Amino acid sequence: MSEGAAKKEEKPRRFQAIRGTRDLLPPETALWNRVEQTAHKVFSTFGFGEIRLPIFEQTELFARSIGLETDVVSKEMYTFTDGPLKRLEDIAGYIRSMVEYQSFLFVAQLFDFYVREFKLGVSRGDLPEEHRSTLLEMHNILEAVQNLDARRHEGDLSTEKERVLARIKLYVSVPRFADVLALRPEATASVCRAYIENNMQQLPQPVKLYTIGPMFRRERPQKGRYRHFYQIDAEVLGGTDAPAIDAEVIEMVMTFFERLGLEGVQLHINSIGDKNCRPKYVELLRAELSKVKDKLGPDSQRRIETNPLRVLDSKLKEEQAIIENLPRIGDHLCQDCATHYAAVKHELGLRGVKYHENWRLVRGLDYYMRTTFEITAKGLGSQNAVCGGGRYDGLMELLGGPPTKGIGFAIGEDRLILSLLETGHSPLATPHSPLLYIAWMGEKAYTTAIRAAKNLRNAGFRVELPPVEQKFSKALGQADKLGARFALILGDNEVASGEWTLKTLADGKQEKLRESDLVEHLKKQL
Ligand code: AMP
Repeated sequence: MSEGAAKKEEKPRRFQAIRGTRDLLPPETALWNRVEQTAHKVFSTFGFGEIRLPIFEQTELFARSIGLETDVVSKEMYTFTDGPLKRLEDIAGYIRSMVEYQSFLFVAQLFDFYVREFKLGVSRGDLPEEHRSTLLEMHNILEAVQNLDARRHEGDLSTEKERVLARIKLYVSVPRFADVLALRPEATASVCRAYIENNMQQLPQPVKLYTIGPMFRRERPQKGRYRHFYQIDAEVLGGTDAPAIDAEVIEMVMTFFERLGLEGVQLHINSIGDKNCRPKYVELLRAELSKVKDKLGPDSQRRIETNPLRVLDSKLKEEQAIIENLPRIGDHLCQDCATHYAAVKHELGLRGVKYHENWRLVRGLDYYMRTTFEITAKGLGSQNAVCGGGRYDGLMELLGGPPTKGIGFAIGEDRLILSLLETGHSPLATPHSPLLYIAWMGEKAYTTAIRAAKNLRNAGFRVELPPVEQKFSKALGQADKLGARFALILGDNEVASGEWTLKTLADGKQEKLRESDLVEHLKKQL
């Protein structure tokens, strides 16, 4: 077959949305808009201002704040390198990830690529001149590799190889020449970064911010869990850690849910202590878990070392009885944390906010301390958390900022919408079908139709103006299909007489109207 024929037969590829991502379509998007408008309204009544943030940041921002041992950072981030030295950094990354597992020669070969790329960087001017000396040092390493290869029959060279590998590791140990970026998995770290970068500590404290937008985590997709999902996030930064702030933040999100008519809303709260009492509790937990290690599943066994608190999150049936017998954080809080927690509960009571205490609520991200909370709603199956939040007083310092109090929450907007739909909330709160369809025929009628559409839309009516001429019968059928309430019939007769015909599609009633009366007439019909 000739190349031309092969090309002809090749079908154009059909693309699909990436696994874990999805399109949000009308009319459901009308509900999304309603939810977001309600967030803007409710949050502003509590004195929150909107912040809009970039969707990607330095990977390290998330690694430092969320924690290296969390699933979000260790497994689920979408990262990429960027900048003119991207290739150089990618090769360094390969070497870092392989140096412990691959043969000496394989690593040395990769290092050879690295040195070549480095040289290109210097000659292109992407790396400053002073790196010429680095290049010389790296060439020495490559020579040592060649030497060792030439002597490969001389017996055991492992010590010398180790020495060379150690020198290679030194040159590729940390990302130095390109940015390592990540699509954000959550918003709190970015809000804190923005607070520091924009000197918001100089504003009246606390600073109350909220943001709405997409987040990205490479999780196993299922109902209510996506790789590209949306969060509505709010944070209170600076000022005091008065328990009233914790309570007001929770009151705000509960008010928001109530305003939306979200059903089956349940608030779960806990205190997970602070840097004085939590480490001691974690050690105690680790010791107790070690005693029952053999009875735990592999995930929990691993977490005994990496993050014992996360064992409390486990949903595994066989682990439940064991977990119920573990020491509880509530019994190990220091005096300050216990007082704070009691006061938060009192403040919630003053605001009429009902809550359930759940000592196993620890949340997946490392930066939380003291008050933590989660809100569940109806119709969501196993992924029933619509909101998670808590206090994170140490986070700002971890990111190089001044000591700053902080508390916030993130609502999973996809799950919120899902719950609303499952409990019968119509997405059609804002209908998008046209109110009026303009059935026009003839050139003069077309000019009039364009004018009529403009005036009606300016008056706020939803108008459909067909782009090509069609017979009246076809136009009326189309108006019906789109769910329009009225059809405005404009033909040569109507234009000549200045008397337009308005047809009500439900009962076929027709009225004659002058152009100047149309807007007022329609307003009366609504
Ligand atoms: P987190 O940032 O993990 O505290 O999550 C806060 C909220 O975001 C959760 O309660 C969920 O409602 C929502 N959420 C987290 N991960 C996902 C996901 N992969 N897909 C959809 N919603 C999510």
